[in-house]
Amino acid sequence: MPADDFVFPPAPQASLAVQGTDARFPIRRIFCVGRNYEAHAREMGNDPTREAPFFFTKPADAALDTPCTIPYPPQTEDLHHEIELVIAIGKGGRNIAEEDVMGHVWGASVGIDLTRRDLQAEAKKAGRPWDWGKAFDNSAPIAPLKPIADVPSIEQGRIWLAVNGTVRQDADLADLIWSVREHVAILSHSMSLAPGDIIMTGTPAGVAALVEGDVVTGGVDGIATLEVKIGPRV
Ligand code: MN
Repeated sequence: MPADDFVFPPAPQASLAVQGTDARFPIRRIFCVGRNYEAHAREMGNDPTREAPFFFTKPADAALDTPCTIPYPPQTEDLHHEIELVIAIGKGGRNIAEEDVMGHVWGASVGIDLTRRDLQAEAKKAGRPWDWGKAFDNSAPIAPLKPIADVPSIEQGRIWLAVNGTVRQDADLADLIWSVREHVAILSHSMSLAPGDIIMTGTPAGVAALVEGDVVTGGVDGIATLEVKIGPRV
């Protein structure tokens, strides 16, 4: 559609950096998996049995490249970090079989599912949507994507996060309750996946609060590392 046909200029395309190139990965949607590591499900007071995975979303423009500085977000006193393996979809599809999932994956990285835990807890208690706890501005800092051909494994490898140099989250991708192949296949039976979709695959135990001035580092071995600074409140 020609630019003149819009009542004002469309927003810029949300995108992520890619390792080893200036080309950028255009983001369509961000899907997130809830409770995908047993120890994290337990620390949140949930039964870690293998119930069907569930999903929530963030807007595409909640993503931003790392390294970055994020202002401490509004309306929360309990901003939590959740380090997560990130999967980028390059080929769309629906009803994808587990054995075909890797043919749809363009790349992988590491990101933080930033969470206003107090707002999420209020929403859970009231039976309301999680959006205000999860889908706020700058809530998905993600390291530059690594093309999947260069990724050694998305099924094992250390995933970790430190705050001001102290490790708080430390686990292995092998601890995922639902593997990437499994949860992408399941997701594709509810939504048609499209090129540009991002999936944040759930966080291990050790989530905790961040404060202004914190320096957060994290990574997944063999894939990517990140650094995020928490700035003053907006
Ligand atoms: Mn999460």
